[in-house]
Amino acid sequence: MPERERLQIELEKAQAELDQLNKLLEHKADYAIGEGDPAIYNWEFNLAQRRRAERKVKSIKEALQKIGEGTYGVCERCHGEIDPERLKILPHTTLCIECARAGRK
Ligand SMILES: [Zn+2]
Repeated sequence: MPERERLQIELEKAQAELDQLNKLLEHKADYAIGEGDPAIYNWEFNLAQRRRAERKVKSIKEALQKIGEGTYGVCERCHGEIDPERLKILPHTTLCIECARAGRK
């Protein structure tokens, strides 16, 4: 399957996840119940999930833009080529494996 198609599918999935989380977060937890309440825990968990989903949607959109520009699969940090096997697993990644590892340190 071409990258663009795979990314479109990824984008739809990530967008659906984000919409779902936005719906869940529409009803704010009652912070008066006190700390340690499962409702608050869930709320915070969903907030973290939403941040993650937002980042994913953003990076997939960027990847799609890069395909359009012809710079897809090029590492943003070292400008080397990203391993196609890595792109298969993480189609929206912007870093090669070496730079991703270095960035995590
Ligand atoms: Zn790199």
